[in-house]
Amino acid sequence: MQWETVIGLEVHVQLATRSKIFSGASTAFGAEPNTQACAVDLGLPGVLPVLNEQAVAMAVQFGLAVHAEIPEVSVFDRKNYFYPDLPKGYQTSQMYHPIVGAGEVEITLDDDTTKRIRIHHAHLEEDAGKSLHEDFHGMTGIDLNRAGTPLLEIVSEPDMRNAKEAAAYLKAIHSIVTYLGISDGNMAEGSMRCDVNVSVRPKGQEAFGTRAEIKNVNSFRFVERAIAFEVERQIELIEDGGSVVQETRLYDPERDETRSMRTKEEANDYRYFPCPDLLPVVLDEAYLEHLRSQLPELPADKRARFQDALGLSAYDASVLSASREMAEFFEEVHRVCGDAKQAANWVQGELSGALNRENLSIQNSPVSAQQLGEVVRRVLDGTINGKAAKQVFQALWNGQGGSADAIIDAKGLKQVTDTGAIEGMIDQVIAESPAQVAQYRDSEPEKRGKMIGYFVGQVMKASRGTANPQQVNDLLKTKLDALL
Ligand code: ADP
Ligand code: MG
Repeated sequence: MQWETVIGLEVHVQLATRSKIFSGASTAFGAEPNTQACAVDLGLPGVLPVLNEQAVAMAVQFGLAVHAEIPEVSVFDRKNYFYPDLPKGYQTSQMYHPIVGAGEVEITLDDDTTKRIRIHHAHLEEDAGKSLHEDFHGMTGIDLNRAGTPLLEIVSEPDMRNAKEAAAYLKAIHSIVTYLGISDGNMAEGSMRCDVNVSVRPKGQEAFGTRAEIKNVNSFRFVERAIAFEVERQIELIEDGGSVVQETRLYDPERDETRSMRTKEEANDYRYFPCPDLLPVVLDEAYLEHLRSQLPELPADKRARFQDALGLSAYDASVLSASREMAEFFEEVHRVCGDAKQAANWVQGELSGALNRENLSIQNSPVSAQQLGEVVRRVLDGTINGKAAKQVFQALWNGQGGSADAIIDAKGLKQVTDTGAIEGMIDQVIAESPAQVAQYRDSEPEKRGKMIGYFVGQVMKASRGTANPQQVNDLLKTKLDALL
């Protein structure tokens, strides 16, 4: 039997407001427990929530970025349940009238094809506090700093068909929210987490199978692993004559498996009802227009422009547009050097390699985009060759201040293109390598091209890397062939 996987994601994005969604308490990460939860976040008697306008603006910006309908009216509902990290006894959320309606996101797959994933809706809600099970012996601590932090929950349609698509979708959402600057997208700190809904069905069958929901997966890699495990579990279960039950499961990264948390029978009845303390949110066209006019160029548009207007490959365009910082760095290098393909090669090659080795993000690159652009410009105008350019890059990386030009001068890296000078070096290398010359002379003509590499290497060395490699190659060939 052939099986097909069906996946839908519910992504929780922590919005980067400075204060909470219904109070003025700070949302800063890492403060002493319970120093950032005010009376409103605790739901003490007599307090009233006030909606944070910034959270509304951020949610709407997301909606506009995914081409969603923005309903004129949205309403907050209370989702009632008891848990120690929820002192109010309910979470304020949006059940029936969310702030963002149906939209769509384009994802890029490994073979550079794209696919549209529909978004069912996105709604605003508040986060709960945290239970700390490790800090106290035999007891659990409660930290309510996170209570009331604004979240945007983005619910997809079940449009993904394998783990790679799910990870690509999550990356696309990550890249949109960070481009917009509405979230720091830091998955390790929990700024973005997702619930993964997975089911399987026989290939060709239209009806969906019963799904399991895997809660709170917090990395791209874990999303793929959790799905892989879950798909295998469900297929095995069905093939052994059993059936999948609708339930909530947890992914355990240490054991690389999912475990049942609660089944549908034990599911809560949340008794949703409109929050009487909050007015419906009404957005007019002028407000939407104002936010629309402030949208930055988004990842999908940037990717298309890099491909169509700058002539980059689909792969380069997709890598360079994945994060806003990367895209802006590349565009600055391109502006300075004037050649998109070379700028792309240097950013993805030398620069990304160095950043990865030292585990630095591009914002903290010791070489600025302006500096890298100058290095590339000097290669393009023939001032230095590629080898010398790497030396200049390394000097800049190591903190040698100043411009690329200053380093080229100081280190004497200007490319030697003077034919006489190069010929002089060639003559010397030939005179010092009688054995290799004899070998060259005795080899088959079609093998000589390969052997020339030795001589090129020696001449380049003699020039301390500054000779023009093409000229060295051409002149060497003429001189060696004259010896035949
Ligand atoms: P609920 O209201 O119980 O949360 P929803 O219908 O809102 O359920 O769906 C929640 C998420 O589960 C959505 O992202 C949706 O795409 C996904 N989903 C729904 N049915 C399936 C299914 N059969 N297989 C995989 N994912 C599904
Ligand atoms: Mg749900």
